[in-house]
Amino acid sequence: MNIPFSPPFIDQSVIDEVVHTLQSKWITTGPKVAALENEIVAMTSCKAAVCINSWTSGAILMLKWFGIKEGDEVIIPAYTYSATALAVLHCGAKPVMVDIGDDFCISPQAVYDAITPKTKAIIPVDIAGWPCDYDKLNAIITNRRILKLFVPETFEQQKLNRILLIADAAHSLGAKFDGVASAKKCDVTIFSFHAVKNITTAEGGCVCLNLPAVFDSIAEYRYLKMYTLNGQTKDAFSKLNGAGWKYDILFKGLKINMPDICAAIGLAQIRKYSSYLLPLRKQIALRYCNGFKNTSWFIQPPLIDSRRETSYHLFPLRISDITEEQRDKIIDDLTSMGVAVNVHFIPMPMLTYFKALGYRITDYPTTYKQFSCEISLPIYPQLSNEEIDFIIESVISSVQKQLTYSILPSVDLQTDKLRQVGIAS
Ligand SMILES: *Cc1c(COP(=O)(O)O)cnc(C)c1O
Repeated sequence: MNIPFSPPFIDQSVIDEVVHTLQSKWITTGPKVAALENEIVAMTSCKAAVCINSWTSGAILMLKWFGIKEGDEVIIPAYTYSATALAVLHCGAKPVMVDIGDDFCISPQAVYDAITPKTKAIIPVDIAGWPCDYDKLNAIITNRRILKLFVPETFEQQKLNRILLIADAAHSLGAKFDGVASAKKCDVTIFSFHAVKNITTAEGGCVCLNLPAVFDSIAEYRYLKMYTLNGQTKDAFSKLNGAGWKYDILFKGLKINMPDICAAIGLAQIRKYSSYLLPLRKQIALRYCNGFKNTSWFIQPPLIDSRRETSYHLFPLRISDITEEQRDKIIDDLTSMGVAVNVHFIPMPMLTYFKALGYRITDYPTTYKQFSCEISLPIYPQLSNEEIDFIIESVISSVQKQLTYSILPSVDLQTDKLRQVGIAS
C-alpha cells in the first residue's frame, strides 16, 4: 500500500468553484472571500471573520493590532508549530514558552506562573483540534491579581484592560466547547487553511473576533480588512465596482489579504464540512480507537468529553513506555510499509533557532514526554476502511516488534550472568 499522510480534499465541487472564479475574471479578494467569511461566521457564531493569507499572517496582524512590540511578553506552549513563536518574534516581543499537560494543551497553572507585568497576550494551541481549557485560561486573565499586573500601553490595551487571549486554532475548525464552536471561548481565534488542514485554501487562514462588547466588531472588522491591504481605504474590488479611483493610505498596513481563487477552494469544502467531511474524520478516529483498544500500550488522544469535542484534525497516537529512539524505529517501519506518518510536534526548544535563543527542552518535561512517544496517523475523508485497517495492523506489528526487541537479552542481562560467575560486581 501507499498511503499519503494528508492529501487535500479536492472533489468536483472544489474544481467547479475554482473554475467559476477564473471565469468570473475576478481572482483576488472579492466575493468568494466575503462568502467564505460569512460561512465561518455562520459556523462559529463569532462576531466577525477576516480571511488572510496564512495563520502566521493572522497572528502577526492581531498581535500588531493589540500594539504588541519589543519589551512585551506573549505566553505560548513549547509544544506547537514554530509559527506560534515566530509570529511573536516578528512583532519584536518575547515568546515565553511554558509546558503542556497530558492532553497536549498548554498547562493553565504554568501560564499563571509565567505571567509578569510585561505579559500582553497568551496564545494557547488546540493541538490536534482539541480545545484548550479555556474556562481556566479565562479565569486566569480575569483573576484580580493578574488584572492588577497588566500595564496597558495602547488604545486597544486600555480598552480591553487585561491580557488578550488568542487561540491558535490552526487545527480546530469545527471543534466544540459546551455545544458551541470553541472559537466562542476566546477574544480572538485564528484558523489555518494551509494545504494539510481540515479546510484548505492552499495557503490561508481566518481571524475570528469574539471581543468583549467595548469593542465594535463591525468597526474592528473594517479596520482589520484595511490592515490586510496596506492600510488602504478602498480595496480593488470596490474600486472596480464604481467606487472611484481615489484612495488613501491611513496607516502602515500589511499585505496579507486572501485572494478569491484561494477562497474558492475553501468555500466549496466548508459547505460540506459539518455535514460530511467532519463526520468522516470522526469515524476514522473511532475506527483507530477500536483497532488499538485491546493493546497494552495504546494511549488514546483526547477526542470527546462531557464538554468538548475535537475537530479530529490529527490522530496523535501515543505508545506508552517507549523511548524516542523506539518511536523513530516504528516510524521507519511504517514508512517502509507504505504508511506515511508524522510527529506533531518537534518541540520548539529542540530546534536550532530556539536553542540558540536559549530555550532548553529540559525545562519542558511533559512536552518532551508527549513528543517522544507520539506518532500522527493519517486521518482524512478519502481514507478507505481497508486503508485504515492496514494502518492499524501495520502499527500493531511494528510496535510489537519494538517491544519484543526491548525485552530480548540486553547488556544488563549479560552483566547479570557475569555477576553470577563472579566477574562483574
Ligand atoms: C499549520 C499551523 C500553523 C501555521 O499555519 P499557516 O497557515 O501555515 O501559517 C500555526 N500553528 C499550528 C499549530 C499549525 O499546525
